[in-house]
Amino acid sequence: MALVVQKYGGTSVGDAERIRAVAEHVAQTLERGDQVVVVVSAMGKFTDELIALAEGIGPDRPPREMDMLLTAGERISMALVSMALGARGVQSASFTGSQAGIITDTDHTKAKILEMRPERIIEALEQGLVPVVAGFQGVSTDRDITTLGRGGSDVTAVALASALKADSCEIYTDVTGVFSADPRVVPSARRLNKISFDEMMEMAATGGRVLMLRSVEFARRHHVPLHVRSSFTWEPGTWIVEEDTTMEEAVVTAITDDVSESKITVAGVPDKPGIAAKLFRALADERVNVDMIVQNTSTLGSADISFTVASTDLKEALRVCNTVATELGAASVESTERIGRVSVVGAGMKSSPGVTAQMFETLTAHGINIEMISTSSIRISCVVDAEKVGEAVRALHTAFGLDA
Ligand code: ADP
Ligand code: ASP
Ligand code: MG
Repeated sequence: MALVVQKYGGTSVGDAERIRAVAEHVAQTLERGDQVVVVVSAMGKFTDELIALAEGIGPDRPPREMDMLLTAGERISMALVSMALGARGVQSASFTGSQAGIITDTDHTKAKILEMRPERIIEALEQGLVPVVAGFQGVSTDRDITTLGRGGSDVTAVALASALKADSCEIYTDVTGVFSADPRVVPSARRLNKISFDEMMEMAATGGRVLMLRSVEFARRHHVPLHVRSSFTWEPGTWIVEEDTTMEEAVVTAITDDVSESKITVAGVPDKPGIAAKLFRALADERVNVDMIVQNTSTLGSADISFTVASTDLKEALRVCNTVATELGAASVESTERIGRVSVVGAGMKSSPGVTAQMFETLTAHGINIEMISTSSIRISCVVDAEKVGEAVRALHTAFGLDA
């Protein structure tokens, strides 16, 4: 008998029919002799609708109250899924993140899990019930309700799978697995049967939003086998696995696209030690995550620092930059709200020279200008015009021989 954590994303519980299909699949998993813990997201685009409701109230959105609001979405799903299981003859009980013992820090809207105390889930399993847990939420050390960041139900599922020592964690979504590019952007993208944690992390960090980055990090650290698959076709999907030496390392495994970041340039700062440290310390103190950074030194003894942040953090980042820029005597602070980023990911590029050149040549052939570049040992990212991202990702997918 295996213990499986099954996470169902928004589209998978989008309406009554989808919820009944989920209940049917859970029932069949039980009939196979396995135990199941279910984790659910809010129905369809409900989280976005709740955010729009808050925006309608006014510009001031206290993070504590936003979390209280947004967690309502998953509460609705968990109760409905539990009812659907009951109707299918499966005994179950729903639990909020707090009831499931998910203890987080106090960083509202992007809280991190500090501890898992899933006693009630274990008790429910012992009583033969299927626990249905609301994803994306926890309770802070200050006893307030928190959320784990957008896409956070993936983290809930992986954290529960780890705490319960589950045999696997299945992420059910609206595509049949992890593809060589977002299949909605690149129709010729191919499903991958397996992918290493390292590659999946690079993908999740650069726009392959099928899994939330933190869930992949967590799964790798705690050795949780992850299986991404479809709740529409139920066919086997993609396994995220430890890199093993027998795996053929493709030079390029996937291309990702992302338009969720903004760019800030602090121009004309003195070119001397300590300037960048001061700027990025101030941003870190306000919990702004910085992604790509480029510094250009001019001959006149001043430098321009450009970097990218999540667009949701742009307002806060600009406030910090303007304050620090005045202190540093910088010439200006400029920003672009919507930038595009296209990335090439592949474990085999470590030992294959020429990937960077081919990427640049392909973008050049399409007349796409590269504004910033960043690399890791298995990824190359270029910032390009947001309008050109789709074209860039399709061109690179073809150029690297990934088309189906
Ligand atoms: P869920 O609500 O189930 O969590 P998400 O919308 O968060 O679903 O993630 C699934 C979506 O991720 C897909 O519909 C697809 O458009 C997108 N996606 C982006 N990149 C990829 C990729 N490389 N492979 C598969 N899906 C991807
Ligand atoms: N409902 C939340 C969101 O839309 C969490 C999730 O779906 O994973 O971000
Ligand atoms: Mg998701």
